[in-house]
Amino acid sequence: MSDYVERVYEQVVEKNQAQPEFHQAVKEVLDSIKPVFEKEPKFERHKILERITEPERVIIFRVPWVSDNGEIQVNRGIRVQFNSAIGAYKGGLRFHPSVNLGIIKFLGFEQTFKNSLTGLSMGGAKGGSDFDPKGKSDNEVMRFCQSFMTELYRYIGGRMDVPAGDIGVGAREIGYLFGQWKKITQRFEPVLTGKSLEYGGSLVRPEATGYGSVYFAKEMLKTKNDDLKGKTCLVSGSGNVAQYTTEKVVDLGGKVVTLSDSNGYIHDPDGITREKLAYVLELKNVRRGRIKEYAEEFGVEYHPGGQPWEIPAEVAFPSATQNEIDGDEAKLLVDNGCFVVSEGANMPSTIEAIDVFLENKVLFGPSKAANAGGVATSGLEMAQNFSFDSWNREKVDQRLHRIMISIHKMAYEASKEYGEPGNYVLGANIAGFKKVANAMIFQGHW
Ligand code: NDP
Repeated sequence: MSDYVERVYEQVVEKNQAQPEFHQAVKEVLDSIKPVFEKEPKFERHKILERITEPERVIIFRVPWVSDNGEIQVNRGIRVQFNSAIGAYKGGLRFHPSVNLGIIKFLGFEQTFKNSLTGLSMGGAKGGSDFDPKGKSDNEVMRFCQSFMTELYRYIGGRMDVPAGDIGVGAREIGYLFGQWKKITQRFEPVLTGKSLEYGGSLVRPEATGYGSVYFAKEMLKTKNDDLKGKTCLVSGSGNVAQYTTEKVVDLGGKVVTLSDSNGYIHDPDGITREKLAYVLELKNVRRGRIKEYAEEFGVEYHPGGQPWEIPAEVAFPSATQNEIDGDEAKLLVDNGCFVVSEGANMPSTIEAIDVFLENKVLFGPSKAANAGGVATSGLEMAQNFSFDSWNREKVDQRLHRIMISIHKMAYEASKEYGEPGNYVLGANIAGFKKVANAMIFQGHW
């Protein structure tokens, strides 16, 4: 790293102790934007790195609620408003027992650059709670969401901060959160995205992150005159992103042979068809069951506790959570012939894994580029809400597709300009960073 970059990274580690995921995300970005500081010293003069690694605001609050058996429960709520240089704060809410400040800060930091890449006017934020919706009744989830929003409502608004879903936050949770915000404020504004169609949601928003990650893989393959037809693909996770990644791969003629959850993965060598995927959607979204049941239903292998990366395939779509591919797993993937990785989840590859992919010239789409389709379509949902309009499926999907093509182009061109064509980590970080950094300079020191 250059002196400046190294110095700021050390300060970040010093000032934000016990936040390893945040350090990791900062390191990944800072390492790859180093050449920008050599070319454009103004960024150092304006102390952009010191400012961009410090959230504009962090809100931490108590979320008390009562479980069905009458016991008082207390969770922690967090909202990190990271950067508003290019638009109102925007980023999802995650409900998962692993949630802590460091994880939300890593996600908010990443979100800033991702939102910049979409070309839409959206700043970066993230939030969530250590609440675990798994095993809770609908009434418990509702009471939790109402309590969470009873505090959060003061800090969000359609032109201020617009949260969305993430792990553990789907249409059900967004509905309860929106209902409570509206009750408290007496306003009907696009304060959340990922809403159901009946009250302002957008077609294709549920599908957008998964579809977008597949569109990104398609663009990467196009640079090698190749496509997804006939390719064996690994998908991890079995939630929102995994489901619609699978659907789009199947549409484009690829074969998805794995899905997983935090307990293990299934291997279906014949491929997951549309019919089998319909079973997964019902299993996960309605019955809220475990992926193990897929193996029982269709008579395929279930690997408890394992990860899909040991199965030979040409393409991988990690779509569950952060750090789900380490250096050894990346080597295994490459040794088994994998040459395309498109990250649907946020930061699913460790820094060691990314190094393996780059050294082996894998077509590697980092999350801030490859999974930006979700937030981009959230932006399209807001555009429809603000104009009192709703667009048909074709229009939203076309816009999403165009945005993913443009993100790929921006990342590819930046990688070329900085001498490493096809290094999308470098390209996405530089392209995302420069827009936000320039906007910060134009707006003075704040
Ligand atoms: P869901 O809650 O719908 O699904 C998450 C899936 O990942 C589940 O199968 C879950 O299994 C698994 N998972 C979660 N945590 C872990 C863990 N610690 N270890 C192993 N498996 C785990 O979330 P999404 O599909 O929405 O999100 C998946 C990823 O995509 C996240 O990284 C998220 O940040 C990212 N993302 C999502 C976007 C969206 O629009 N939804 C947008 C951009 C990024 P289990 O059921 O056992 O917990």
